[in-house]
Amino acid sequence: MFGRKYSALSVAWHATTGNRYLTPVWRDPEPRDRYDVVVIGGGGHGLATAYYLAKEHGAKSVAVLERAWIGFGNAGRNTTIIRSNYLLPGNLPFYEWSMKLWESLEGELNYNAMVSQRGVLNLYHSDPQRDAFARRGNAMRLHGVDAELLDRNQLQKFAPFLNFDDARFPIQGGLLQRRGGTARHDAVVWGYARAADGSGVDIIQRCEVTGIRTEAGRVVGVETSRGFIRAPKVGIAVAGNSSRLAAMVGLRLPIETHVIQGFVTEPVKPLIPGVITFGAGHFYISQSDKGGLVFGGDLDGYNSYASRGNLPTAEDVCEGGIAILPLIGRIRVLRIWGGMMDMTMDGSPIIDRAPIKGLYLNAGWCYGGFKATPASGWCFAHLIARDELHPVAAHYRLDRFATGHLIDENGRGAQPNLH
Ligand SMILES: Cc1cc2nc3c(=O)[nH]c(=O)nc-3n(C[C@H](O)[C@H](O)[C@H](O)COP(=O)(O)OP(=O)(O)OC[C@H]3O[C@@H](n4cnc5c(N)ncnc54)[C@H](O)[C@@H]3O)c2cc1C
Repeated sequence: MFGRKYSALSVAWHATTGNRYLTPVWRDPEPRDRYDVVVIGGGGHGLATAYYLAKEHGAKSVAVLERAWIGFGNAGRNTTIIRSNYLLPGNLPFYEWSMKLWESLEGELNYNAMVSQRGVLNLYHSDPQRDAFARRGNAMRLHGVDAELLDRNQLQKFAPFLNFDDARFPIQGGLLQRRGGTARHDAVVWGYARAADGSGVDIIQRCEVTGIRTEAGRVVGVETSRGFIRAPKVGIAVAGNSSRLAAMVGLRLPIETHVIQGFVTEPVKPLIPGVITFGAGHFYISQSDKGGLVFGGDLDGYNSYASRGNLPTAEDVCEGGIAILPLIGRIRVLRIWGGMMDMTMDGSPIIDRAPIKGLYLNAGWCYGGFKATPASGWCFAHLIARDELHPVAAHYRLDRFATGHLIDENGRGAQPNLH
């Protein structure tokens, strides 16, 4: 009676009919012999790409191939922060477009992705850092993005629980983006999956791509654990596995794979209103709707395909937390986990054609990958459908590593372990 549309009325109707008419949220189809487009990777980026291919470009025959289950990778492991407080012209329009898509996502997908614009606050601890944040805030405002530079007095009103006086790195103020915040990571995956499935996309789980077949310099399909699937267009969106997939066609990417860890504590009463980042080390924290404090910090700092981190980094992250929030020292950590992430040599992503016809790359997502999900899917779908770069992702070209047009957002040089 209510079809696939979620509404208060449909919830009430299902409740009164004992949920007898509920159907699976997405199908579990057998892979077909051929598709017009195959997207490899059932994380947020792959699913968003498939959805926008169908919805915005009218693609009728699209499959997402996922070797495990959707959301198994970083899409289900991240610390859920969304923001568009970037500095450089290569990044700002893209991340702001993503923020705009986040703002309308739940209506678009008819799914509660728990998008919560509770604010992202970056703390500064020195005069030069304040100047850098002032510059960043000005760049944001020039691009129509909201930004407020708070001094110590304003910040004390906003976040009185921070350790202003006794900290080893006294807090002088912060850069606040009120429109930033968090979104429930797996709900984003499920929302895109449901909407993509509803638009005719086949989501095929437990289907590992083991090879990419080419003939006369162009892609003709993919070898998988469930047989060969023919497709004239193949998009790679496999996060920390990009180098492995590219190697299947003999391509070497300017990417390293690193592990990054996430942490969650036991639930406590509301404490942290938004997202807060430490400016004198690498630490960021927010509070989930269940009450757990969700936090993280640096990469583990060495290359690895293992989804688990090590204690020295865990210790470093906790030190950062204690420096600004000593009160969390007595809260118990419930879980620590890791995810494999790409790191390009300038820390910014790649959304571009590969040098093989019909093969497209969506790669290099490190810390910024979750917040990028909607715009990444949007721009990658545009690229695959039209074979041209989308204007807001025009800087994410692969050849920038050959021409030297790097997007060095952090200004720290080509050292992946410093980002
Ligand atoms: C601990 C942690 C915290 C993070 N915090 C944030 C944050 O707060 N904000 C933010 O913006 N970003 C954050 N990130 C980064 C973000 O999660 C990733 O950059 C982003 O999720 C990557 O895109 P994705 O969702 O498509 O990746 P994934 O979910 O990893 O999707 C890739 C999929 O490809 C599949 N795959 C791989 N190889 C194959 C194959 N051969 N065949 C078929 N399928 C294959 C994998 O199984 C996986 O499901 C964090 C990451 C981690 C690990």
